[in-house]
Amino acid sequence: MDDAAVLKKKGYILGGSLGESSFAKVKSAYSERLKSQVAVKITDRRNVPTEFLEKFLPRELEILSTVDHCSIVKIYEIFETSGKVYIVMELCVQGDLLEFIKSNRGLPEEVARRMFRQLCCAVKYCHDLDVVHRDLKCDNVLLDKDMNVKLSDFGFSKRCYRDRDGQIVPSQTFCGSAAYAAPEVILGIPYHPKIYDMWSLGVVLYVMVSGYMPYDDSNVKRMLRLQQEHRVIFPETLSIECKDLIFRMLQPDVAHRLQIEEVLNHPWVQGKRLKRFR
Ligand code: ADP
Ligand code: MG
Repeated sequence: MDDAAVLKKKGYILGGSLGESSFAKVKSAYSERLKSQVAVKITDRRNVPTEFLEKFLPRELEILSTVDHCSIVKIYEIFETSGKVYIVMELCVQGDLLEFIKSNRGLPEEVARRMFRQLCCAVKYCHDLDVVHRDLKCDNVLLDKDMNVKLSDFGFSKRCYRDRDGQIVPSQTFCGSAAYAAPEVILGIPYHPKIYDMWSLGVVLYVMVSGYMPYDDSNVKRMLRLQQEHRVIFPETLSIECKDLIFRMLQPDVAHRLQIEEVLNHPWVQGKRLKRFR
């Protein structure tokens, strides 16, 4: 049976394409039950590597079916048939954040602040549950009709393991994309996954307010050197508060990188002025 027939049986009328990647296709559909448009992520089990099938996909499905937050994409239903997995979720009609940033050539700080705060609330919710995303990037942040942020694509997410003392066990697997990857992840050393998310979130904020990437990932060696030297070149027009926040998130020393609560309490996120200069 093709996708349209499978979905019809479940009460969905298949629509057009919303996005495609190496492992999945995302399409729009009309739900006869909800009487509204939805998005369906379709993964063909036959076309994906074993590690993805046995490790990442089950994690994505398990985590998606447990998270419930206004800034995380809502899942309506997950079903599997004929070798394929269908994830039915809320449709984010405004598409992804990357496209929005590109079409605006960077966002005014006021616009970025509102979206970034919503994104941080979603990340805090996950981190409080010991869930890490590990693929935070602008293409995985979606926008609904009212331009509210919906964190999506939990394909690299996992629940943190804790040792007997309650400490989080470092992760080993390289996840995410190089341009958003923290230096410790690029170096391939075991990393604290929540602290890794904070780096990627810093890259997301940089892209939001500038319209371009903080580091050029076409030369990873050079990129790593700049990251380790804690060199961040900011657009001139950026406020001191915003630069301060990004600088503290793109901190190569993991012991000093801001955690999610600290980001939410930062003057820029709070819409306040910095009391003193760095
Ligand atoms: P992948 O794991 O292949 O990256 P994603 O879940 O990130 O898959 O989806 C790929 C793309 O499809 C996204 O970047 C986005 O443009 C589009 N997309 C995914 N989910 C939705 C949705 N719920 N509403 C609208 N577009 C979506
Ligand atoms: Mg994605």
